[in-house]
Amino acid sequence: MAASSSSAPGRLETVRRFVNTRDIEAGTDATATPPDLSRWLREAELLDARTEVTAAQVRQASTLREALREALVANHSGGPIPPDTIAVLNQVAARAQVTLSITADLGWVARPRAGGVEGALGTLVTIVADAMTDATWARLKICINDTCRWAFYDHSRARSGKWCSMRVCGNRAKQQTWRARREP
Ligand SMILES: [Zn+2]
Repeated sequence: MAASSSSAPGRLETVRRFVNTRDIEAGTDATATPPDLSRWLREAELLDARTEVTAAQVRQASTLREALREALVANHSGGPIPPDTIAVLNQVAARAQVTLSITADLGWVARPRAGGVEGALGTLVTIVADAMTDATWARLKICINDTCRWAFYDHSRARSGKWCSMRVCGNRAKQQTWRARREP
């Protein structure tokens, strides 16, 4: 299998990868500078080569990424997304001028009218909105290991996955519980 076992289906995988541009455990950020963000968005086919990226847009992208991380934490419990997080997602959609178009087959599509980085970030929010309607969103989660917080897609039948990978974070958590039990 080419895709990793924690990959999300379809375009939702782009959102998962975007959240994981910051590797908390390694302390790295693949979108830390304007050239980095430009490269990442171009590779994700969200931006064309001619677009200039500013430092302010790097901050906007980072704010969206961390808001998405918080939103994905809520998917473990199925609880509500925190209001501040919702506000960020709506702000990004507004800045991108996300517009609804009705289609001939009684469906609809939401697309950003803005181009550039604003449009690219807006597209990520429309992918999130689509995933919320088709229920794949609820399976996109953040690893509960606090030092990891990696975004993963929960393929488990019961939708009860908690860790990015049972082999790494799951086992680590179990060992800690085991050790804690042995403490006198
Ligand atoms: Zn993890």
